[in-house]
Amino acid sequence: MALNVTIWNEHRHEKKNETVAAIYPKGIHAAIAEGLDVDAEVTFATLDDEEHGLTDAVLEKTDVLIWWGHVAHNEVKDEIVAKVHQRVLKGMGLIVLHSGHFSKIFKKLMGTSCDLKWREADDKERVWVVNPAHPIAAGLGEYFELPKEEMYGEHFDIPAPDELVFVSWFEGGEVFRSGCCYTRGNGKVFYFRPGHETYPTYYDANVRKVISNAVKWAAPVDRAYPTYGNAKPLEPISEKA
Ligand code: ZN
Repeated sequence: MALNVTIWNEHRHEKKNETVAAIYPKGIHAAIAEGLDVDAEVTFATLDDEEHGLTDAVLEKTDVLIWWGHVAHNEVKDEIVAKVHQRVLKGMGLIVLHSGHFSKIFKKLMGTSCDLKWREADDKERVWVVNPAHPIAAGLGEYFELPKEEMYGEHFDIPAPDELVFVSWFEGGEVFRSGCCYTRGNGKVFYFRPGHETYPTYYDANVRKVISNAVKWAAPVDRAYPTYGNAKPLEPISEKA
């Protein structure tokens, strides 16, 4: 059965920066959608849409939400962030890309500053697979390279990932945990580092493979949300002397 995938993009750089518009004429969200090798119905949602495109109806049907944001994290309304957060806890998958490390939703789910080092200097990035058995690494070699990317360096202020899939090395010498898996409630969260807006990263075959694998990994598992709170005994509790 097809997964319902919603791709959320801030969609500001493409409208204001000619370099970015030339690389992503239809928006970063369209390039991500083109690269999805998944049986999926894709919905686009952007910051300037009504309710940022994340209405109750859209969120309710979304199996996996992909998130790209950068310059306008603060314009994302808290009430929408709260709804996305609830949907993750109830089982919706969330894939946070690149500068989404500073999005309200990622910081809320992580509970840390999510800060890092960065540099825009055309560093080569080598993304190493450090968890070869992980489904998100399926079909990749031992590593893949992006000829030019923004550098993100440690320390990355996140909770220790439940599973670490990728570590990136940069030409300038830094390393970074660039593929991090978490569970939060019934939901799965994957952070994937590459994707600075001035590089054609979302056309890269390996990057597209990772995002496709991550969508499949983050898809909800078929189970009910747990019951919390006061609980009746499953069988009689014997009277104690
Ligand atoms: Zn960037």
